[in-house]
Amino acid sequence: SKAVRLDKLLANLGYGSRREIQGLARAGDIVLDGAPVDDAGARIPLDADLPERMWIDGEPLDPLPGLCLMLHKPLGVTCSHKEAGPLVYGLFPERWRRRDPALSTVGRLDKETSGLLLLTDDGALLHRIISPKASVAKRYRVTLDRPLRGDEGAVLASGTLMLEGEERPLLPVGFEAEDATRCAVTLTEGRYHQVRRMFAALGNHVTALHRDRVGGLDLPADLAAGAYRVMEPEAIAALF
Ligand code: URA
Repeated sequence: SKAVRLDKLLANLGYGSRREIQGLARAGDIVLDGAPVDDAGARIPLDADLPERMWIDGEPLDPLPGLCLMLHKPLGVTCSHKEAGPLVYGLFPERWRRRDPALSTVGRLDKETSGLLLLTDDGALLHRIISPKASVAKRYRVTLDRPLRGDEGAVLASGTLMLEGEERPLLPVGFEAEDATRCAVTLTEGRYHQVRRMFAALGNHVTALHRDRVGGLDLPADLAAGAYRVMEPEAIAALF
């Protein structure tokens, strides 16, 4: 297996500068297989089970690079540094914001959209999922201001609906009515504010938006808003 210097590994996981990690090692706060590692320059095999074998300051080591998360994004947090308001990254341990490679969202949800959001530090996986060529399906549950007219399904399926200010019609969108003011839509594109703009083009107005599926992955019913799970990269890769 690949081996890395302990101080580099821990610095890249956000535990501190190399000097700070040297301090932790000297203090006996880094333990591997039950024994303190006092040399911060030691080479450590980068095995998948390392987080179960290494403890830092009494806590299991953070997940290694190749991290994939599923988050139930709550309302009111943003995916973009350019938007005002608290970032989704604030939902994770503070140290994770210093990880290198950095954790990033797989696509974005609006500040006022809730639901399934994936995050990863694996650039190849990220691009595989968000690439337009991949055309991964995303399902949204939509609540509307006014009752459905009845023609929405046909218009969305036709691949002719034009959003304001755009020159290319939307690809066909899957549609299922749930009741007079609620429906589910399934998109394979991700244009800016697509669902909200789509219903504006249909003469309606979205009052609540929630994503419950991405590719083959459903938001688990027992994952509360604001909660997240670490996923096996292989499990994620199998879904796209
Ligand atoms: N469409 C939107 O309008 N907002 C989202 O967050 C996602 C899709």
